[in-house]
Amino acid sequence: MTDRPTIADLASHVRFADRHIGPSSGERARMLAEVGYASTDALIDAAVPARIRSGRGLRLPDAADETAVLRELRELADRNEVLTSMIGLGYYDTVTPGVIKRNVLENPAWYTAYTPYQPEISQGRLEALLNFQTAVADLTGLPVSGASLLDEATAAAEAMTLARRADKRGRTAFAVDADTFPQTLAVLRTRAEPLGIDLVVADLSEGLPDADLFGILVQYPGASGAVRDHRALLAAARERGAVGVVAADLLALTLLTPPGELGADVAVGSTQRFGVPMGYGGPHAGYMAVRDGLARQLPGRLVGVSVDAAGDPAYRLALQTREQHIRREKATSNICTAQVLLAVMAGMYAVYHGPDGLRRIAQRVHRHAAVLAEGLRALGVEVEHEQFFDTVRARVPGRASDLVAAARAAGINLLRVDDDSVGISCDETTTGEQLRVLWEVFGSRLPGTVEDLDRATGDALPPGLLRESGYLEHPVFHSHRSETAMLRYLRRLSDRDLALDRTMIPLGSCTMKLNATTEMEPVTWPEFARMHPFAPVDQARGYLRLIRDLEGWLAEATGYHAVSLQPNAGSQGEYAGLLAIRAYHRSRGEHGRTVCLIPASAHGTNAASAVLAGMRVVVVACDSEGNIDLADLAAKIEAHRAELSAIMVTYPSTHGVYEESITEVCAAVHEAGGQVYVDGANLNALLGLARPGEFGADVSHLNLHKTFCIPHGGGGPGVGPVAVREHLAEFLPNHPLSDDAGPHTGIGPVAAAPFGSAGILPISWAYVRLMGAEGLRRATEAAVLSANYLAKRLAPHYPVLYTGANGLIAHECVIDLRRITKETGVTVADVAKRLIDYGFHAPTMSFPVAGTLMIEPTESEDLAELDRFVAALAAIRAEIAAVGAGALDRADNPLRNAPHTAAQLAGEWPHPYERSTAAFPSGAGGADKYWPPVRRIDEGYGDRNLVCSCPPPEAFAG
Ligand SMILES: *Cc1c(COP(=O)(O)O)cnc(C)c1O
Repeated sequence: MTDRPTIADLASHVRFADRHIGPSSGERARMLAEVGYASTDALIDAAVPARIRSGRGLRLPDAADETAVLRELRELADRNEVLTSMIGLGYYDTVTPGVIKRNVLENPAWYTAYTPYQPEISQGRLEALLNFQTAVADLTGLPVSGASLLDEATAAAEAMTLARRADKRGRTAFAVDADTFPQTLAVLRTRAEPLGIDLVVADLSEGLPDADLFGILVQYPGASGAVRDHRALLAAARERGAVGVVAADLLALTLLTPPGELGADVAVGSTQRFGVPMGYGGPHAGYMAVRDGLARQLPGRLVGVSVDAAGDPAYRLALQTREQHIRREKATSNICTAQVLLAVMAGMYAVYHGPDGLRRIAQRVHRHAAVLAEGLRALGVEVEHEQFFDTVRARVPGRASDLVAAARAAGINLLRVDDDSVGISCDETTTGEQLRVLWEVFGSRLPGTVEDLDRATGDALPPGLLRESGYLEHPVFHSHRSETAMLRYLRRLSDRDLALDRTMIPLGSCTMKLNATTEMEPVTWPEFARMHPFAPVDQARGYLRLIRDLEGWLAEATGYHAVSLQPNAGSQGEYAGLLAIRAYHRSRGEHGRTVCLIPASAHGTNAASAVLAGMRVVVVACDSEGNIDLADLAAKIEAHRAELSAIMVTYPSTHGVYEESITEVCAAVHEAGGQVYVDGANLNALLGLARPGEFGADVSHLNLHKTFCIPHGGGGPGVGPVAVREHLAEFLPNHPLSDDAGPHTGIGPVAAAPFGSAGILPISWAYVRLMGAEGLRRATEAAVLSANYLAKRLAPHYPVLYTGANGLIAHECVIDLRRITKETGVTVADVAKRLIDYGFHAPTMSFPVAGTLMIEPTESEDLAELDRFVAALAAIRAEIAAVGAGALDRADNPLRNAPHTAAQLAGEWPHPYERSTAAFPSGAGGADKYWPPVRRIDEGYGDRNLVCSCPPPEAFAG
């Protein structure tokens, strides 16, 4: 007998859960003592209502260590067979410049950032998004572009609803050209039906159909590759007062007359081919640009230029009053999380290549296509269109399947359009060698070389549609041509921002936890990154296995029967879940069930999604404790009994409390014939402890970019899987181009790609594999402990607003500043901005209750960081007290003037407090001090003077 540890003991020091969970066991013991419990079990028993607790642990594979999980992922990756993709249909292989791949996509300074609601610590990513907006606006020839949408198909659907809002005459028909990507058509169908929009699909080159149109959409170039002149069509639409939408390929627009000059009101599309890997369907940034007069109708986020307290230009989100978090059921759309990280990449691709580089890339793509077509003609193959950009459609009567198979045997995927034609799309990676292979597949070896044919073949772009106007003239698109310059630009921008790689981001409702490096690594492996979403499924076996595993694990974790990973954000999961409820009622002949009950405290996406799903929102009051007011619920159910479709509740509530009444709420709604939607964005407080499908809910969405470690990326990407009980499973999303994406009885697609943002699913897969059932449960317990620890430590300084049983909270706490504000004039914004001087990202401001701050520490922050945060808030409370007592000036004090910049300290100092108090309060920061690049930003100014593309450099002079 010896005390020597065994080999197995020695291996346990690499347990991933202990890396993921911040506080060590010793620290957790100290935290428990502070909260007043002897053990974690005792705390959890006291905090989580027994009636929702799951009787058993999760049945998941045992945790594996990081090396083993990477090995498993490598095996999955190896089961994917990445061929040359010439399928097209909106997804193209692209070269991600290494400097962008490593320094944006693989760089935590960019990928762990939060949505830029605190603009002073987000100037870097806001500038990057402004570059994106400027590139999109320039290329489309329209003045205002938003800061990214979820994908091309949903952007088209958003354009359709925008057109309808803009229509003053209440018309109901929307015409779509038949030569539009099939997945876009399918998503438009899904979205049109519940809104009562009559979708007319027709060949619009023959003129407008005879319908009461509020808008039209054409693809440019078309899905078939044809480049048509849409001027007359768009003029005819405008004549009728209908909004003209053009779904356009940005790369083609470097050579073709842009939509704005053709007469379009709106342009939409994808920016994937600007350096963003296909990733089996996503994530990529969709875009939308609009003409003057429609900016206030834009869905999603919009970056604008404003000024800071010194009058210097500064960026921030513009016109937020359009968005769901403020307008709720009257919002322009339900979009919250979008695709910021991917928009940053696409914008940087434009910055790096500049207008000349982009044009050359586009010309090369086009030349390959033109030469390909000429070679096919020489082989006697009929090419359908004379004029195209990158896609050649070959007529091959009866031979399409054989040719697609032969090309595949030669390592190339083509698009089988029907029995008689195939589509071939060239992209940035296309080579002459690939053209030669294709010619052999189609006929025989050509006598000449690709070079000979290149010299002998003219362009195939319509002469009347050649682009004459300039684009990307702003210096930012001309100054970063060397890799050194680009590297430093990326570094300079990320240094302006606070992301998780520098500080805790204590945001309530958003679960900013660790995004582990091991989880992130596989995302850029080519076997995952270069897969086309419509590649034959037998080439994507690794992906399919990973998808089925994750669906199964999430079903187990939530207690539901089936899961769809297609929705590419929480809002989209909500929408899919509500459509499933709608379809269920209708399948039972209950068409009149259209009322959706939503508590006053709900996240803004809930109400906006319900409206998109064709429902009417009825608000249920909350009581003074923040819980659903059961009397009001009973009254609302009674008033709408026959029309009751569903209730949408967030659990634990958006107030961060485990409501005891949840099972009664579910029962009351069920009794009246309604369905229960539990918004699962707060699953971080339930995972491993309770399962919504078990305690009474019928459907939930989860946010993998919250609970399951996909990074926020500055506001996206996300994945919002929807999980349902058995009776709703037949109504999950599906996809016209994949039999594996959902039930054939489903509601249609809610995203462009069959499995949504499949490219980032390895992150959540890895998280579950690394943690195992016990690790996930322990993470939840640590999150609840950390939140209660913070609540306890902050309570002497600030009132904690809501608590549940035993005075405990769930995973987040709300501190109430309303009285403090009344007494001292110091606002939540002052506290949030002052935290920047202390080196912290602010908590969530004024949600779910105005005048409060909501804090969610997550399980990943260690005790030192929690204590540093408590110390900062305590010191700020002392400063507030000094304002209250008159020791600090009421108007000119460090809170009101926060944040303080370095430039400000170096200049004249007119304030009645010390410079050191301004910049190094309570010794905060020291050598590691974070310096905000701008002073407090005037939000209103920017909305009154809307500027949404790169300002001229003179704006920054002096
Ligand atoms: C984050 C969140 C959502 C929205 O999710 P997105 O991915 O941003 O669309 C919905 N509900 C709650 C409670 C949330 O916290």
